[in-house]
Amino acid sequence: MVLQTLAHLTQTGGCKSGGLFMSNDATQAMVDRIRATADMKEKTTIAGLAHAPVTEDDIEKSCENCIYFLARRSWCDLPELNIPVDPEWYCALWRV
Ligand code: SF4
Repeated sequence: MVLQTLAHLTQTGGCKSGGLFMSNDATQAMVDRIRATADMKEKTTIAGLAHAPVTEDDIEKSCENCIYFLARRSWCDLPELNIPVDPEWYCALWRV
């Protein structure tokens, strides 16, 4: 249910920065903006949470292969997000 609600909230958010290289400064600015709001939809919009993986340099990036993904819980453990996610989703804070 929570995952479905989050999916609904993020459907219109799109991925504004997905697939683009972001500098450390840009990443930090994004994290700061996420920390500054308590609104979950805004957090996921800032992070560019998308409902599909992104392929960059022949690497498919998705929650499933992100270091923050907890597979047993299908959860994003990044403290600034800390939300249920689908393995096929992606956000601009993806890390390996
Ligand atoms: S930080 Fe990783 S696990 Fe969390 S939403 Fe972004 S891609 Fe998915």
